[in-house]
Amino acid sequence: MSLSLSERCDCVMQSEIRMMSIECARHGGINLSQGVCDTPVPAVVREGASDAIEAGRNTYTHYAGIASLRAAIAMKYRRLYGMEIDAHHEIIVSAGATGAMYSVFQALLNPGDEVIVFEPFYGYHVSTLHACGARPVFVTLRQPDWSFEPLDLERLVTARTKAIIVNTPGNPSGKVFSREELGMIAAFARAHDLFVITDEIYEHFLYDGAQHLSPAMLDGMRERTVIVSGFSKTFSVTGWRIGYAICDRKWASSVGYFNDLFYVCAPAPLQEGVARGLRDLGEGYYRGLSEEYGAKRDRFCKVLEGIGLTPCVPRGAYYVLADTSRLPGKTSREKAMHILLTSGVASVPGSAFYHDRGGDNFVRFCFAKEDAVLNEACRRLGKLA
Ligand code: PLP
Repeated sequence: MSLSLSERCDCVMQSEIRMMSIECARHGGINLSQGVCDTPVPAVVREGASDAIEAGRNTYTHYAGIASLRAAIAMKYRRLYGMEIDAHHEIIVSAGATGAMYSVFQALLNPGDEVIVFEPFYGYHVSTLHACGARPVFVTLRQPDWSFEPLDLERLVTARTKAIIVNTPGNPSGKVFSREELGMIAAFARAHDLFVITDEIYEHFLYDGAQHLSPAMLDGMRERTVIVSGFSKTFSVTGWRIGYAICDRKWASSVGYFNDLFYVCAPAPLQEGVARGLRDLGEGYYRGLSEEYGAKRDRFCKVLEGIGLTPCVPRGAYYVLADTSRLPGKTSREKAMHILLTSGVASVPGSAFYHDRGGDNFVRFCFAKEDAVLNEACRRLGKLA
């Protein structure tokens, strides 16, 4: 035996997103690469957390989260989606959606299990599968609507297929899965007895009248669906690390045990803050998010159109994939570096979202920025015209 890293390290490389953030800082650019939404945190959420700190709520919590937060999450699902969730047995609060996803994968997947992933994908889904020894297999969504057919799913099935991952609204495509598409996925999952693991962290960022639907809302899907979501985006608290998983109690206790093992619990006073936000902020707040980000989307996509980087206009989330075919460079990394060096705006190379060369002509911009920053980014991008 010699000193060496584990074999696992090979599949958990530094993400392209972090790499571009580092390049951006080096060149003093505006960072539209990372999904760090830097819009203000609602006052009730901040006050809820600071009151909790002052009141001494600074110790470990139950590994599945404080009861008041789990009750508030259950209340939200009842109010917005008409779903009845058992707050005590079906919700695990974790260290962000990322922590929830890792705990879910650990609880449900064996090494060697295959998991179907739509691409373009969110890189953490794929890297987390690798970290658990599971094998992602890919369905490439077709532009312009990021569509797919049942046959695209059927041809990937083997005896090792255990789950399919949905991300709606999706990062980076902005795709909002329709009832018909989710119905197709549900029928497929039932036919092959698969879990549907659905990342819904952008559920409140919806444009052009798009409606959020979870596969869990479809008839007969509750037992096999695991919802993963969180507050990073909705309350602009990416650094707080509060997310959750919702699933049938048959799976929830094991998800909770892994959550306990990895994180012990999510930060106690910050759980109180988001619980207060959930209780006090009404539908107007969520509608306001879609309006505010919809306006940012429109402004940003118009600029991309104007400089010939045709945007795939997203229907949800807060990213836009832009077609960079006309820019110099062979790879999307070269094209993203060209954009950074010419305009001082950082994006993510499209290769970060595909397992093969599918993303070569894309870069992804994040438009979840304060208006002054976004306006300056738009002005700078004009240099590419
Ligand atoms: N899921 C998706 C699809 C994301 O885009 C992100 C962040 O960019 C996350 C999860 C991370 O969520 P959290 O901050 O709650 O871990």
